[in-house]
Amino acid sequence: MEQFADFPRRKKDGITFEAVNRLLTQQLYAGIVEVARWGVSPREGKHEPLVSKETWAKIQERLNAKQAVAPVRKDASEDFPLRGFVACACCEQPMSAAWAKGRNKRYAYYSCFTKGCPERRKSIAKDKLEQRFDTLIKSLRPSRSLFDMSRAIWRDLWEARGMKVEQRTKSIAGDLKKIGKQIDLFLDRIVNTDSPTVISAYEARIRDLEHERLLLSEKSRKKHEPQTSFEGSFRTAMNFLANP
Ligand SMILES: [Zn+2]
Repeated sequence: MEQFADFPRRKKDGITFEAVNRLLTQQLYAGIVEVARWGVSPREGKHEPLVSKETWAKIQERLNAKQAVAPVRKDASEDFPLRGFVACACCEQPMSAAWAKGRNKRYAYYSCFTKGCPERRKSIAKDKLEQRFDTLIKSLRPSRSLFDMSRAIWRDLWEARGMKVEQRTKSIAGDLKKIGKQIDLFLDRIVNTDSPTVISAYEARIRDLEHERLLLSEKSRKKHEPQTSFEGSFRTAMNFLANP
């Protein structure tokens, strides 16, 4: 936003976090009007929303979410990448790590510090533990055939989903045709009747059908193309699985 000269800013030193927060929490953008000081409770506005209510709600949820639940310490340093990720074999609590001073140099080690654990304070040298972790990760690499098979299964599912969407689009087109025919039918009947009561009943029916037709044609205009290709969607996941 700072690159756009037109973007309104209060300070000369750029866009503040508060400004970004205001943007992300402004419910007017989702089409909702609310003015508490005038007693106007939240309601549907008459203007065109910039984002859907679904999107807006998702943003609020994410903004209000508590911090990520990863067992990472704030001071997690480069020294001990596995701290908090490796569990004690005895009590299954996350292990911690520290530097210890020896006579001549410092030693890096992981250890369980859980109170009451029989293995508490038994240390494992950093290098030893990290090497074993390395070996474990390598053993997780799937075989070529397993990898190819899961890829084939995902592709099948991807194509099946595509077929379903196609079928639904076709069935909407069929429904639209049917409604068109029904409307024509009622119009014919109106022409052939003299009773005002019957005519207005037919007219009401036509109005309903027209509503239905509007809804369906909005649905049929919606794009059902996948947003990315199969390759684009799965490349990262497959690369990761191939070599965790
Ligand atoms: Zn333990």
